[in-house]
Amino acid sequence: KKITIAIDGYSSTGKSTVAKQLADYLGYVYVDSGAMYRAVTLYAMQQGIISDNHFDVEKLKESLPSIHLRFLKEAAWNKAHIFLNGKDVEDKIRNLEVSEFVSPIATIHEVRVKLVAQQQKMGLEKGVVMDGRDIGTVVFPNAELKIFMNASAKERAQRRYQELVARGDDIQFNDVLKNIEERDYIDTTRDDSPLRKASDAIEIDNSDMNLEDQFHTVLQLAKD
Ligand code: C5P
Repeated sequence: KKITIAIDGYSSTGKSTVAKQLADYLGYVYVDSGAMYRAVTLYAMQQGIISDNHFDVEKLKESLPSIHLRFLKEAAWNKAHIFLNGKDVEDKIRNLEVSEFVSPIATIHEVRVKLVAQQQKMGLEKGVVMDGRDIGTVVFPNAELKIFMNASAKERAQRRYQELVARGDDIQFNDVLKNIEERDYIDTTRDDSPLRKASDAIEIDNSDMNLEDQFHTVLQLAKD
Protein backbone atom coordinates (compact mmCIF):
# COMPACT_ATOMS: atom_id res chain seq x y z
CA LYS A 1 0.00 0.00 0.00
CA LYS A 2 1.38 3.37 -1.01
CA ILE A 3 1.46 6.14 1.56
CA THR A 4 2.16 9.85 1.86
CA ILE A 5 5.43 10.82 3.56
CA ALA A 6 6.04 14.32 4.91
CA ILE A 7 9.61 15.36 5.72
CA ASP A 8 9.96 18.71 7.45
CA GLY A 9 12.75 20.40 9.28
CA TYR A 10 15.31 23.13 9.58
CA SER A 11 17.47 24.16 6.64
CA SER A 12 20.93 22.63 6.32
CA THR A 13 19.67 19.38 7.85
CA GLY A 14 20.00 17.44 4.58
CA LYS A 15 16.31 16.55 4.48
CA SER A 16 15.95 16.90 0.72
CA THR A 17 18.74 14.38 0.08
CA VAL A 18 17.07 11.78 2.26
CA ALA A 19 13.60 12.54 0.88
CA LYS A 20 14.83 12.08 -2.69
CA GLN A 21 16.66 8.80 -1.89
CA LEU A 22 13.61 7.43 -0.15
CA ALA A 23 11.28 8.33 -3.03
CA ASP A 24 13.62 6.68 -5.55
CA TYR A 25 13.89 3.53 -3.49
CA LEU A 26 10.14 3.20 -2.94
CA GLY A 27 9.22 4.24 -6.49
CA TYR A 28 7.38 7.27 -5.15
CA VAL A 29 7.17 10.81 -6.51
CA TYR A 30 9.49 13.28 -4.76
CA VAL A 31 8.26 16.88 -4.43
CA ASP A 32 10.60 19.66 -3.30
CA SER A 33 8.12 22.22 -1.93
CA GLY A 34 10.89 24.77 -1.31
CA ALA A 35 11.50 24.88 -5.07
CA MET A 36 7.97 26.25 -5.51
CA TYR A 37 8.58 29.13 -3.06
CA ARG A 38 11.89 29.77 -4.81
CA ALA A 39 10.24 29.84 -8.27
CA VAL A 40 7.65 32.40 -7.11
CA THR A 41 10.57 34.46 -5.76
CA LEU A 42 12.40 34.22 -9.09
CA TYR A 43 9.24 35.41 -10.88
CA ALA A 44 9.03 38.42 -8.52
CA MET A 45 12.69 39.25 -9.24
CA GLN A 46 12.27 38.90 -13.02
CA GLN A 47 9.20 41.16 -13.00
CA GLY A 48 10.89 43.82 -10.86
CA ILE A 49 8.43 43.14 -8.03
CA ILE A 50 11.24 42.52 -5.57
CA SER A 51 14.80 43.85 -5.45
CA ASP A 52 17.22 45.07 -2.78
CA ASN A 53 15.38 48.35 -2.24
CA HIS A 54 11.87 47.55 -3.41
CA PHE A 55 9.16 45.02 -2.60
CA ASP A 56 5.63 45.48 -4.00
CA VAL A 57 3.60 42.92 -2.08
CA GLU A 58 0.29 44.02 -3.65
CA LYS A 59 1.66 43.61 -7.18
CA LEU A 60 2.86 40.11 -6.33
CA LYS A 61 -0.56 39.15 -4.98
CA GLU A 62 -2.20 40.45 -8.19
CA SER A 63 0.31 38.51 -10.30
CA LEU A 64 -0.26 35.15 -8.61
CA PRO A 65 -2.78 33.90 -11.23
CA SER A 66 -0.08 34.43 -13.90
CA ILE A 67 2.40 32.17 -12.14
CA HIS A 68 2.21 28.60 -13.40
CA LEU A 69 4.43 25.98 -11.82
CA ARG A 70 5.00 22.39 -12.94
CA PHE A 71 7.45 19.65 -12.17
CA LEU A 72 8.70 17.67 -15.17
CA LYS A 73 11.17 14.85 -15.30
CA GLU A 74 13.27 13.58 -18.19
CA ALA A 75 15.03 10.24 -18.16
CA ALA A 76 18.49 11.85 -18.13
CA TRP A 77 17.76 13.93 -15.02
CA ASN A 78 18.16 12.46 -11.56
CA LYS A 79 15.28 14.56 -10.22
CA ALA A 80 12.28 16.44 -11.58
CA HIS A 81 12.95 20.04 -12.57
CA ILE A 82 10.63 22.89 -11.74
CA PHE A 83 9.20 24.90 -14.64
CA LEU A 84 8.03 28.49 -14.25
CA ASN A 85 5.58 29.48 -17.00
CA GLY A 86 7.01 26.83 -19.30
CA LYS A 87 10.72 27.51 -18.60
CA ASP A 88 13.06 25.18 -16.72
CA VAL A 89 14.30 27.26 -13.76
CA GLU A 90 15.75 24.44 -11.64
CA ASP A 91 19.26 25.96 -11.76
CA LYS A 92 18.29 29.61 -11.41
CA ILE A 93 16.23 29.15 -8.25
CA ARG A 94 19.29 27.89 -6.36
CA ASN A 95 21.24 31.13 -6.64
CA LEU A 96 22.07 33.21 -3.61
CA GLU A 97 19.83 36.14 -4.52
CA VAL A 98 16.78 33.89 -4.63
CA SER A 99 17.80 32.38 -1.27
CA GLU A 100 17.96 35.85 0.24
CA PHE A 101 14.51 36.92 -0.94
CA VAL A 102 12.61 33.66 -0.56
CA SER A 103 11.78 33.84 3.15
CA PRO A 104 9.90 37.18 3.01
CA ILE A 105 8.02 35.92 -0.08
CA ALA A 106 7.11 32.72 1.79
CA THR A 107 5.49 34.75 4.61
CA ILE A 108 2.82 36.15 2.25
CA HIS A 109 -0.42 34.39 3.10
CA GLU A 110 -1.77 34.39 -0.49
CA VAL A 111 1.45 32.81 -1.77
CA ARG A 112 1.17 30.02 0.78
CA VAL A 113 -2.53 29.42 -0.02
CA LYS A 114 -1.75 29.04 -3.72
CA LEU A 115 1.24 26.74 -3.26
CA VAL A 116 -0.32 24.61 -0.54
CA ALA A 117 -3.36 23.99 -2.80
CA GLN A 118 -1.12 22.84 -5.63
CA GLN A 119 0.93 20.65 -3.27
CA GLN A 120 -2.24 19.03 -1.94
CA LYS A 121 -3.32 18.21 -5.52
CA MET A 122 0.04 16.53 -6.14
CA GLY A 123 -0.59 14.41 -3.08
CA LEU A 124 -3.98 13.09 -4.20
CA GLU A 125 -2.22 10.19 -5.78
CA LYS A 126 -0.60 8.12 -3.01
CA GLY A 127 3.09 7.42 -3.14
CA VAL A 128 4.52 10.88 -2.53
CA VAL A 129 7.48 12.06 -0.47
CA MET A 130 7.31 15.84 0.01
CA ASP A 131 9.86 17.88 1.92
CA GLY A 132 9.48 21.37 3.33
CA ARG A 133 8.54 23.23 6.50
CA ASP A 134 4.78 22.80 6.85
CA ILE A 135 4.09 19.51 5.05
CA GLY A 136 3.14 17.49 8.14
CA THR A 137 1.20 20.34 9.75
CA VAL A 138 -0.58 22.16 6.89
CA VAL A 139 -0.20 20.40 3.54
CA PHE A 140 -0.74 16.77 4.59
CA PRO A 141 -1.96 16.72 8.20
CA ASN A 142 -3.10 13.12 7.55
CA ALA A 143 0.19 11.85 6.12
CA GLU A 144 0.84 8.27 7.22
CA LEU A 145 4.47 9.07 8.05
CA LYS A 146 5.82 12.41 9.26
CA ILE A 147 9.48 13.02 9.89
CA PHE A 148 10.96 16.12 11.46
CA MET A 149 14.68 16.47 10.80
CA ASN A 150 16.91 18.39 13.09
CA ALA A 151 20.57 18.72 13.93
CA SER A 152 22.28 20.73 16.62
CA ALA A 153 22.74 24.41 15.84
CA LYS A 154 26.47 23.80 16.09
CA GLU A 155 26.44 21.03 13.48
CA ARG A 156 24.25 23.04 11.08
CA ALA A 157 26.46 26.11 11.60
CA GLN A 158 29.48 23.92 10.80
CA ARG A 159 27.88 22.73 7.53
CA ARG A 160 26.89 26.29 6.59
CA TYR A 161 30.31 27.68 7.58
CA GLN A 162 32.05 25.17 5.33
CA GLU A 163 29.82 26.17 2.40
CA LEU A 164 30.56 29.86 2.92
CA VAL A 165 34.31 29.34 3.30
CA ALA A 166 34.32 27.21 0.13
CA ARG A 167 32.70 30.18 -1.61
CA GLY A 168 35.53 32.41 -0.43
CA ASP A 169 33.66 34.39 2.25
CA ASP A 170 35.74 35.89 5.05
CA ILE A 171 33.70 34.94 8.10
CA GLN A 172 33.94 33.72 11.68
CA PHE A 173 32.38 30.46 12.78
CA ASN A 174 30.89 32.15 15.86
CA ASP A 175 29.02 34.68 13.72
CA VAL A 176 27.51 31.90 11.63
CA LEU A 177 26.46 30.04 14.76
CA LYS A 178 24.94 33.17 16.29
CA ASN A 179 22.95 33.81 13.09
CA ILE A 180 21.60 30.24 13.06
CA GLU A 181 20.58 30.48 16.71
CA GLU A 182 18.84 33.80 16.11
CA ARG A 183 16.94 32.46 13.09
CA ASP A 184 15.95 29.32 14.99
CA TYR A 185 14.51 31.52 17.69
CA ILE A 186 12.52 33.66 15.24
CA ASP A 187 11.37 30.64 13.21
CA THR A 188 10.13 28.64 16.15
CA THR A 189 8.52 31.39 18.23
CA ARG A 190 6.64 33.27 15.48
CA ASP A 191 2.95 32.33 15.56
CA ASP A 192 2.62 32.03 11.78
CA SER A 193 5.92 30.23 11.33
CA PRO A 194 5.70 27.47 8.73
CA LEU A 195 8.31 25.57 10.70
CA ARG A 196 6.55 23.60 13.39
CA LYS A 197 6.89 19.98 14.32
CA ALA A 198 3.58 18.12 13.97
CA SER A 199 2.62 16.43 17.25
CA ASP A 200 2.67 13.04 15.49
CA ALA A 201 5.96 13.61 13.66
CA ILE A 202 8.99 11.49 14.46
CA GLU A 203 11.99 13.67 15.19
CA ILE A 204 15.35 12.59 13.84
CA ASP A 205 18.43 14.40 15.06
CA ASN A 206 21.08 13.75 12.43
CA SER A 207 23.94 15.64 14.12
CA ASP A 208 25.93 12.40 14.38
CA MET A 209 24.44 10.45 11.45
CA ASN A 210 25.80 10.00 7.96
CA LEU A 211 23.50 9.92 4.93
CA GLU A 212 23.33 6.14 4.85
CA ASP A 213 22.26 5.95 8.51
CA GLN A 214 19.59 8.56 7.89
CA PHE A 215 18.28 6.77 4.83
CA HIS A 216 18.00 3.43 6.62
CA THR A 217 16.32 5.00 9.66
CA VAL A 218 13.69 6.68 7.49
CA LEU A 219 13.21 3.62 5.28
CA GLN A 220 12.59 1.45 8.34
CA LEU A 221 9.92 3.89 9.53
CA ALA A 222 8.28 3.85 6.09
CA LYS A 223 8.13 0.04 6.17
CA ASP A 224 6.60 -0.20 9.66
O1 C5P B 1 13.72 24.02 1.25
P1 C5P B 1 14.38 25.30 0.82
O2 C5P B 1 15.47 25.76 1.75
O3 C5P B 1 14.78 25.30 -0.61
O4 C5P B 1 13.22 26.38 0.95
C1 C5P B 1 13.46 27.74 0.66
C2 C5P B 1 12.58 28.62 1.54
O5 C5P B 1 11.20 28.46 1.21
C3 C5P B 1 12.65 28.34 3.03
O6 C5P B 1 13.73 29.04 3.64
C4 C5P B 1 11.31 28.83 3.54
O7 C5P B 1 11.34 30.23 3.76
C5 C5P B 1 10.38 28.57 2.36
N1 C5P B 1 9.56 27.35 2.48
C6 C5P B 1 8.36 27.43 3.15
N2 C5P B 1 7.54 26.33 3.21
C7 C5P B 1 7.90 25.18 2.62
C8 C5P B 1 9.13 25.06 1.94
C9 C5P B 1 9.95 26.18 1.89
O8 C5P B 1 8.03 28.48 3.69
N3 C5P B 1 7.05 24.12 2.68
